[in-house]
Amino acid sequence: RPLVGVLALQGDVREHLVALAEAGAVGRPVRRPQELAEVDGLVIPGGESTTISKLAVAFGLLEPLRARVRAGLPVYGSCAGMIMVADKLLDGREDQETLGGIDMIVRRNAFGRQNESFEAAVEVAGVSGGPVEGVFIRAPWVESTGAGVEVLAVHDGHTVAVRQGRVLATSFHPELTGDHRVHALFVDMVRATL
Ligand code: GLN
Repeated sequence: RPLVGVLALQGDVREHLVALAEAGAVGRPVRRPQELAEVDGLVIPGGESTTISKLAVAFGLLEPLRARVRAGLPVYGSCAGMIMVADKLLDGREDQETLGGIDMIVRRNAFGRQNESFEAAVEVAGVSGGPVEGVFIRAPWVESTGAGVEVLAVHDGHTVAVRQGRVLATSFHPELTGDHRVHALFVDMVRATL
């Protein structure tokens, strides 16, 4: 079983740990550079990207994270995690840092505020067995992508799931649904590197 970390600075860490276990991985919270060094892949959870960014700096994790992503660590970001793996961010806070990893521009809070959260069936390329239930909570969307980026899902004309090489991102939160097919896709990506 691959060892997959969940960046545990803020956000829905526990839900991802459960989803990873059900998708065939061993999930482990990651808060320190040493813990990061040990994992075969990493999930960046949903939550608040400005807080995750601030805490990553405070915990001395920002540069180690960037270095491991550059070196090819498989990473999956959901919602705030999608923001963290964007090479470029729109509507971010001034001092907000991302790790990068996908050649895309992500617009933060693009689908509106908290009370405009919604669920929708989303067909995701590479996930068989019908659409996944997409839970969108103050969700970002992908404004544009570079040539090397695969668009995996579109909702309402907006790109909501992408992959570039070993990095996967969704605007929505599969960890909140009990349907672990997106996590299974990511665990397969991690296995392929071992
Ligand atoms: N709007 C949040 C942010 O900017 C993301 C919301 C979420 O992860 N559900 O990070």
